[in-house]
Amino acid sequence: MDDIRGMVLQLPGLQLLIDLLRDRGWTVVGPTVRDGVVVHAEIESVDQLPRGVADIQDGGSYRLRQRGDEAVFRYVVGPQGWKSLLFPSRELLWSGRRTGDEMDIAPAEVDAPRLALLGVRSCDLHAIGIHDTVLAERTESDAAYVTRREDNFIIAVTCSDPGGTCFCVSMGTGPVPDKGYDLALTELMNGDGHRFLVVPGSDRGVEILDELTIRAEGDEVLHAATSDRDAAREVGAAAAQRMGRSLDTDGLRDLLYANAEHPRWDDVASRCLACTNCTLVCPTCFCTSVEDVSDLSGTETERWRVWDSCFTNDFSYLHGGSVRSTVPSRYRQWATHKLASWVDQFGTSGCVGCGRCITWCPAAIDITAEVGAIRSGEG
Ligand code: SF4
Ligand code: SF4
Repeated sequence: MDDIRGMVLQLPGLQLLIDLLRDRGWTVVGPTVRDGVVVHAEIESVDQLPRGVADIQDGGSYRLRQRGDEAVFRYVVGPQGWKSLLFPSRELLWSGRRTGDEMDIAPAEVDAPRLALLGVRSCDLHAIGIHDTVLAERTESDAAYVTRREDNFIIAVTCSDPGGTCFCVSMGTGPVPDKGYDLALTELMNGDGHRFLVVPGSDRGVEILDELTIRAEGDEVLHAATSDRDAAREVGAAAAQRMGRSLDTDGLRDLLYANAEHPRWDDVASRCLACTNCTLVCPTCFCTSVEDVSDLSGTETERWRVWDSCFTNDFSYLHGGSVRSTVPSRYRQWATHKLASWVDQFGTSGCVGCGRCITWCPAAIDITAEVGAIRSGEG
């Protein structure tokens, strides 16, 4: 796709794109502000996007502020990864009905609208790629996830203003989208005005851009100039220089394996509340458990799959007890899985550097600081 120069959309052109995707049968889901955070919701109009909004993120802290301009993608990431749509927190697996001595079991139907995901950051694109590996490409794939991922149209966005907890550069996952999208946008705000460079990343993206050009009646959709592409490159390059955090990944897997008994695990556990927030906001965490429910008469029954967390005592309960009954062992399990054993299992790190686990930890525990302390030999 490198030979395609891309198009430049004005804000009305972005609306045309949303309209076109909806006309083609996609439900467009994108960022919007709700209850003081940026969340993902169905989008019909550019007016629903987080216009003029930025986020300020640090350990245990998230605030929105008004930028005083018309930017729509200059926040970073909210608490939700896209997994809440593609791998929901509660999923009905099957329901059953008892009639006399007979039990009829019906597999659940998957509620899966055709989704167009608008505003996917590069870290989250990589997280979706990780879930594809973990959930769709294993021997027995997760059928509901595969159904939800089918026919997704992905519109990625280059980050321009990384947050205080971002470290995608360290993880090699951002800030410029590199693969896994149909279209990639870069929001440009300079002397040439407010506009979006959009480049295709798939044949379907090319087709949508072609149709957008046909639909446009004025200058809301134009061919990109070299200056637009140069400006977009500058946005990505500047963002890469402004990461809020960093993580030295050199030899990280072996470092963590060699430090299973490091005193830092006890230190972090003295601060950790085992609340599970870090795992719930993490876009790559995928642990679940199963809940069975029945009505009082014992006639109707359902089996649900629900998100679970390695931070709970019950998660590692085997016959006779939990194998990770202490908080140090649970934090160590989580961090070591993310950054070391995930590589052995799936071939990549399990962390994409989105920073959510740092922002949304009520104790401001920071995985980059904890690993940094182990590397430097601090207790
Ligand atoms: S590290 Fe923070 S977010 Fe995670 S379980 Fe501990 S207190 Fe909760
Ligand atoms: S471990 Fe933290 S920084 Fe890494 S992907 Fe999960 S939430 Fe993001």
